[in-house]
Amino acid sequence: MKQFSFEYRGLDSFSRELCDFKARCSRGHITVKMFQVYSEILDCEKMQKVCGVIGQMFPDVVCMGCSTSGNIIDCELSGKITVVCTAFEFPTTQIRLFHYDLSEYSTEQITSSILEETSRHAWVKAIEMFFTIPQESTTKFCEGLKELRPDIQVFGGVACSDDITSDDSFVFSRESGISKHSILILFYGGDDFYVDAISVTGWKPLGRKFQVTKSNGSVLKELDGIPAYEVYRKYLNIKNDENFFYHTLEFPLFYEHNNTTILRTPVASNEDGSITMTSDIEIGSVVRISYGDPGTIVESIRHDSSRIAEFWPDLLHIFSCAARRTFWTLKEPTYEIRPFQKISSSCGFFSHGEFLRTNGNLNQHNVTLVIAAMREGQKRQSAPAASIEDNHLPKVPLVSRLATFISVTSMELEESNRKLESANEKLKTAAIIDGLTGLYNRREIQARIDEALLQLMDETFSLIMLDIDNFKQVNDTYGHQQGDNVLIGLANILQNEQAGGMHSVSAGRWGGEEFMMLLPGMEGNSAAYTANLIRKCFANTKFPDISPQTISLGVTQAKSGDTADSLCSRVDMALYQAKKSGKNKAVLI
Ligand code: GH3
Ligand code: MG
Ligand code: MG
Repeated sequence: MKQFSFEYRGLDSFSRELCDFKARCSRGHITVKMFQVYSEILDCEKMQKVCGVIGQMFPDVVCMGCSTSGNIIDCELSGKITVVCTAFEFPTTQIRLFHYDLSEYSTEQITSSILEETSRHAWVKAIEMFFTIPQESTTKFCEGLKELRPDIQVFGGVACSDDITSDDSFVFSRESGISKHSILILFYGGDDFYVDAISVTGWKPLGRKFQVTKSNGSVLKELDGIPAYEVYRKYLNIKNDENFFYHTLEFPLFYEHNNTTILRTPVASNEDGSITMTSDIEIGSVVRISYGDPGTIVESIRHDSSRIAEFWPDLLHIFSCAARRTFWTLKEPTYEIRPFQKISSSCGFFSHGEFLRTNGNLNQHNVTLVIAAMREGQKRQSAPAASIEDNHLPKVPLVSRLATFISVTSMELEESNRKLESANEKLKTAAIIDGLTGLYNRREIQARIDEALLQLMDETFSLIMLDIDNFKQVNDTYGHQQGDNVLIGLANILQNEQAGGMHSVSAGRWGGEEFMMLLPGMEGNSAAYTANLIRKCFANTKFPDISPQTISLGVTQAKSGDTADSLCSRVDMALYQAKKSGKNKAVLI
């Protein structure tokens, strides 16, 4: 593949240049296949004239183009209207252009037509796309191409204009003319055609995370439950006015989607505090405000340019977000793409959005640099080393250092929040659990009794109150520690009952060596039966170094009209009777 470029300076000089070029082509057996015209000026008439000249001299050649926010030739900014001609050296290489007018076709019709055409043309290896600024989210379009053959690379850009805040843009093709609402689809392929494509962001997340709590398509309504605009106002002091778009351009939202990092810029802030984005952000997405860090960008470029260099491309097509041009303006608008200059010829433009298919998913990006590398035939030359010399590295400005500081601080804050949350969980547990036995404490078991009483009309329940017999003697004879072991032994039996019971039994320590069990759905007789099982089980429990111990139990079923007091007094009375009548028994009242 070979690229020839022309800067349009006027109709006459362009016609002459093109005429000379045509003669050169026929002398050099150059097969011109395509003209792409990039224009920073939204002047349809001028565009038509340029195309007219091309059409006259090269009537059978694909001719297309779009409006841009800056034209790129060989990694430098070129003239306001730039014409790029591509010639193929292999007869097998093919291209085919489709122009879909959005006022004639729905998104579904377009995507299914693309799928149909690719299945009809097995030679297709890449699709280059040129969108006019979309009136709605491109998500549906991107998802519509999910079924595309997995080996087809897809890349492209959204047309733009020199006023990046404007919604005006156009694309054009020789067949369908100029259109303000269209998509151009360009197929590339053939046996000897090879393609690779990458994206570079280099933007870093800044500060805390926000969750999208409300959104509707590309209208982002709330982040963490507050109007999305408030986030930009509070953290960046950006006002909700006509400059909102311009000011937020360098601070896109950063999030993961389809396993790819996506940057999304707001297009406008609305009166209700919502923000219109360039594409959908689903509810539940976790986003962060991000900022361009020159060091990270340069590092990414270093890494990715070597991958592109190793591909040995004949030419590169570059789609770089207009925001990146603004970002590097103080240095040079094309500073970051300069390392690709040594690799091969290139052309492209500053765009309003960038497309790239990654892992089978087509995504629309913002603030991103997409580079497609194309080649005909086998690798020919040794790969030039692409690098940004260190003396070109921009000094890390104060603002970047501050941003790093904020980022690290907020990550540390997030970490301590996580720790606090888990400590809180522990505290919450501690507030309802008795430290020695692991059973509920008295307050919790009382709360559960109150709750069960409230639902007594729907479900009956019983209480069992347990007290270790002659426990004072255990302490006196074997010591307090052994006493504790006996308490734990009983608690384990109750714990088992709690875990294995048919109903959701609750067991708690009522105080000292007294315990209380709440048995929802259980009548008095069954509860008394359970009480006796527990009694026998405890009586048979062997404690090392001490003789077996016993318990007495009071049992009662809740009656309508019971209060917590009346119920507890009754079960206490039952326990008292068990003690009075000889201990190691259960009494039901
Ligand atoms: P009864 O059969 O009538 O219930 O006699 P008792 O000795 O079990 O009852 P009493 O109320 O006289 O004594 C209860 C003892 O329980 C007194 C107290 O020292 C002991 N105790 C209370 N809490 C704990 C504890 O957490 N650990 C230990 N080891 N002993 C405790
Ligand atoms: Mg007692
Ligand atoms: Mg006792």
